[in-house]
Amino acid sequence: MQPTRQQLEQWDRTAVWHAFTQMAEYAPLIIERASGATLYDLDGRALLDGVSSLWCNVHGHCHPRIDAAIRDQLSRIAHCTSLGMSNPTTIRLAKRLIEIAPPGLEHVFFAGDGAAAVEVALKIAFQYWQQRADPRPAKTKFVALGAAYHGDTIGSVSLGDIGQFHAMFQPLLFDVFRLPSPESYRLPPGVTLATAAAHYLGQMETLLAQHHDEIAAVVVEPLVQGAAGMALQPPGYLAGVCELARQHDVLLIADEVATGFGRTGTMFACEQEQVVPDLMCLGKGLTGGYLAMSATLASDEVYRAFLGSYADAKTLYHGHTFGGNPLAAAAALATLDVFEEEQTLARLPEKIARLGEHLARIAQHPHVGDARQRGLMAGIELVSDRTKREPYPWTERRGMRACQRALDRGVFLRPLGNVVVIMPPLSITLDELDQILLAAEEGIVTATELNG
Ligand SMILES: *Cc1c(COP(=O)(O)O)cnc(C)c1O
Repeated sequence: MQPTRQQLEQWDRTAVWHAFTQMAEYAPLIIERASGATLYDLDGRALLDGVSSLWCNVHGHCHPRIDAAIRDQLSRIAHCTSLGMSNPTTIRLAKRLIEIAPPGLEHVFFAGDGAAAVEVALKIAFQYWQQRADPRPAKTKFVALGAAYHGDTIGSVSLGDIGQFHAMFQPLLFDVFRLPSPESYRLPPGVTLATAAAHYLGQMETLLAQHHDEIAAVVVEPLVQGAAGMALQPPGYLAGVCELARQHDVLLIADEVATGFGRTGTMFACEQEQVVPDLMCLGKGLTGGYLAMSATLASDEVYRAFLGSYADAKTLYHGHTFGGNPLAAAAALATLDVFEEEQTLARLPEKIARLGEHLARIAQHPHVGDARQRGLMAGIELVSDRTKREPYPWTERRGMRACQRALDRGVFLRPLGNVVVIMPPLSITLDELDQILLAAEEGIVTATELNG
């Protein structure tokens, strides 16, 4: 017998432990199906998906092309291991990823989640220095940025610096060299937008000059630090970091889990500053947001340090049961086909411009401190005092209140603290974009008119 609606809601509150959710306060929102950018709940109520089902949906839900590719793969094999074995779909995907990635990234390691892709990159970077032809065994540390987010496993949390998510686990983490977040809204005293890149790069240069002998890699989210609240890096920063890493013989790990697959306007964010990292992490949009899959791409230089006879013990001793899963690979290949067939990237500029127009208007609101955007990735930061850039106390949950109001207007949004995130599927129409931003604006007005 089918469970009743009440049973579903009851079990959703008790049996399911939801991610990043205070279960004592959780109010079930149960989505039964979706089409394009629209989600439908149990009552058939339509909700526009303003955050791409948490930053991963690319071409819309139930895209016929991707659905068909998964069904087709399902009739062959759902899963085979990548430990010493392969299948045509996963092989083809690796080849396609190498073709579209920045030149020089020539080898693909598959895992299941973004966090795992970052863990793999850390272990590869560490092991590379231990066993390359000219080993540098003291290079064991990592440089990470303030407000970084790279996932929720212990290695990626060690890189991370989102106070509320990460402070609790401090005793479990390894130390990193931490530099201030290279963001553009709350600049240090005396620094302007024009001098910001040079300022942050100066800090990186000082650190690398002093400690490069012990540093394996610098880890960055290119162009935009997503979970930091869509913090934008000043132009030139990413290219500068890449240059400094080269100069000081330190690897560069680019975490494109959030920025990859068209999100910032180009297929990968690194392209915008002609940066080729040594290791690049992909996830979220890789399968169009359909299935769990991530990938770590490596340069040939890094990869070759792992080659040798079995007895040399240079093997990368790391793997995940479902790494390279063929169903996910089929979804990923179809996602890349749709990029070509629907000219997804060529059609982005007008959507990016329309989003920009809405943000410019919303930025005028007295409690909007900043409305920032890179491609179809945007954050509207609510502040209690605009001139002082004073954040609302996090306990007031202004961002969440704005999103709750938007939900009443038929738009699903999920904030990052005081930042209302706008991150629709790349397939969003201009009309849908208008609806999302009008609902967000109404939510923001309502949530900031109220006292504490
Ligand atoms: C979401 C995210 C991750 C983690 O990916 P999961 O699939 O949730 O493990 C890692 N890095 C960045 C930049 C992300 O935005």
